Amino acid sequence: MKSSKIRLAILVLTLTIGSCKGTNYDWIDRARHEGLVKLSNTASFEVFSTEPNPIGIKNTIQNLEQSKVYFDEVFDENLNFAVLFVDNKNWNKYAWAPPPGMPQSDYDGNMVLGVGKSIMATRWEQQLSELPPGKMDSLKQVFGNEIDLDLFFRDALSIHELGHLYQFYKTSNESQRRWLNEVFGNLCQVAAVKRLESNEVFNQMDYFQELLIEENLWGNVEFKTLDQFEESYMDIIKLGRNYGWYQTQFYQIAKELYSKFGDEFLNEFRNLLIAVDAKKIGKIENDKLIVIMRERLGDEAVEILKWKH
Ligand SMILES: [Zn+2]
Repeated sequence: MKSSKIRLAILVLTLTIGSCKGTNYDWIDRARHEGLVKLSNTASFEVFSTEPNPIGIKNTIQNLEQSKVYFDEVFDENLNFAVLFVDNKNWNKYAWAPPPGMPQSDYDGNMVLGVGKSIMATRWEQQLSELPPGKMDSLKQVFGNEIDLDLFFRDALSIHELGHLYQFYKTSNESQRRWLNEVFGNLCQVAAVKRLESNEVFNQMDYFQELLIEENLWGNVEFKTLDQFEESYMDIIKLGRNYGWYQTQFYQIAKELYSKFGDEFLNEFRNLLIAVDAKKIGKIENDKLIVIMRERLGDEAVEILKWKH
């Protein structure tokens, strides 16, 4: 009797200790999955779709699986999340912002991605006709003859969204600065995509984004400052080009930060976002924010983050 009590105590103790590592709570809002088909093509996270047999998501899933392993290690988590593959016609029912195919994640553990030929990718493929023929040829060398930009918007950017989920899991939904969230998303994207077994996704996303900057396919954009990004965020999202312009700037900053500071910097950046969570400390002035950033990220990183527009 006594020994079985001891055994029970040991068992309870083991379970308690065991559950301490990567304490993980169920944060996924499953009410948002209503009307979707649950798929079982991975054991790493939950997958839902508007279609029972969606085509073209195999690589997306594999990339997310590999990125989850990487992020779990860097952030010391075992994050559970759900990926919702949503077609064009059902987009507005499940996503918070148009156009269909613009990847997005939420503070409730869900990520929404396009499936099939997305409107986002189709629009951008039409824009490519503005490129000089030589540039178009070199784009085909990384994307193949039939340029499919869903490979960028779904495959590459899903990893950016996954980075946001590792942040949202630890913060409230009251963000201190949206631009900091976006640099973080890009930083996660660059780091995890570089770790994928194949370098195809990195080559595609890097070539495409650098080309957009080089050829200035954005045209004249209305908003360029970080304060405007905060104040007019929804307007900027609606002006897709302007949002894209900001994202490519953040992407270049993220690339530089990652090449200088490596994997551990992701953790330091996430800790900064947790520390300055507006729900905890309220909205603070830029000057005060810069002081905290210097303390946590160092002067050199803050110099790279300095906005030149
Ligand atoms: Zn983002």
